[in-house]
Amino acid sequence: MSGASKTRPRSEPAGERNRSAGIPLPRPTALSRPHWDGCREGVLRFQRCRDCGAAVFIPQPVCPGCFGDGLRWVESSGRGTVYSYTVVHRPPSPAFAVPYVVVIAELEEGWHMLSNLVACDPADVSVDMPIEVVFERESAEITLPRFRPARSG
Ligand code: ZN
Repeated sequence: MSGASKTRPRSEPAGERNRSAGIPLPRPTALSRPHWDGCREGVLRFQRCRDCGAAVFIPQPVCPGCFGDGLRWVESSGRGTVYSYTVVHRPPSPAFAVPYVVVIAELEEGWHMLSNLVACDPADVSVDMPIEVVFERESAEITLPRFRPARSG
């Protein structure tokens, strides 16, 4: 059992540094932690209301559909389409390498998520394009869910 693996040293192997190193990262809260834990484990989680069936993201304490407390965490397939997108050419800070694509992903379970599209030329992005989640490790705690064009088959 390697329960000690949680306490990693601060310096990471050079290979884990990528071009987005240094970007500001999310800080999980008690409410959002199941989502971030899932990303680290390679699973995309969102909330589903057991009372009205609503798919909910970003994490909420009560269901925005029926105001009930029946939200539970479930796993997404990670597949969806581009609902909307924009190409960023002027970075909010030098830590962001431009150009990059910001997407609103529409997941097949009927919920939306703001993310990045990677492995795709910005000129090739289009609305309704099939995409799938990829998980990119940014730190010991944070793995970001991003999307790439879906691979057929
Ligand atoms: Zn509900």
